[in-house]
Amino acid sequence: MAKVINIFNQKGGVGKTTTTINLGAALAKKKQHVLIVDIDPQANATSGLSIEDRSSNIYDLLESNRVTIQHTSTPGLDVIPSDGELAGAEIAISEKENWQYLLKTALAPIKDDYNFILIDAPPSLGVLSMLALVASDSLLIPVQSEYYALEGVGNLMNTIAMVKENFNEDLDVEGVVLTMYDGRTKLASGVKDEITKYFGDAVYQTTIPRNIRLAEAPSYGMHIFDYDNLSKGAWSYRRLCKEFLKKQVKA
Ligand code: ADP
Ligand code: MG
Repeated sequence: MAKVINIFNQKGGVGKTTTTINLGAALAKKKQHVLIVDIDPQANATSGLSIEDRSSNIYDLLESNRVTIQHTSTPGLDVIPSDGELAGAEIAISEKENWQYLLKTALAPIKDDYNFILIDAPPSLGVLSMLALVASDSLLIPVQSEYYALEGVGNLMNTIAMVKENFNEDLDVEGVVLTMYDGRTKLASGVKDEITKYFGDAVYQTTIPRNIRLAEAPSYGMHIFDYDNLSKGAWSYRRLCKEFLKKQVKA
């Protein structure tokens, strides 16, 4: 049965979508069955993986528990696409009874088909990101290696505590990954030390460097291993995948 992991940070632009796509692809290349659930109306994960057909999308899953899952060109890597129409759906969703559990319930029948389900949610704490938090077994938190990252950590901890208390008491922190990391700067290593004070062992040894190839790949609709398998970005996400899988065995 799949472990459901929300790639979570309520800040935008920290590498959530990049991590969802490339960790997902790395896992698929390690023979894992991976489903990426795109619940961000911006649909960046959907377009970053070249999913053209969005006629059946996350909105249908939430509305009717039915969706056509899309395959990518990478064996083992599937996607439930998002679509812009989702943006207008938040109010309608929030008017339903027990709406917080909608995604959790909808994913239940699919869970047997996968090893990992990775949910890419929008930044900011709205209805959609709440659905993702409640549906998940754990959170994988990308943190951008910059000064302001630390200011966000308090909010992040509060959110996790609130979700655990009210809707999902078993929610774990899967891991914390530092993104756009430049180990040569004092700032980056300072951020890593501070984050480690909060999250301890949950912080991955692997950091993701700033790498232009990672930024370019989605505009070609490719994950990094198809776009530039020899880039630093590819290398770092492969390493993250290895560390991630090692932790599963321990758990
Ligand atoms: P989020 O989903 O958290 O909003 P994204 O993954 O979309 O963040 O990343 C924000 C921007 O930064 C995107 O343009 C993305 O291509 C770029 N980016 C993400 N990670 C890296 C990285 N390690 N190196 C260079 N650019 C990156
Ligand atoms: Mg995103």
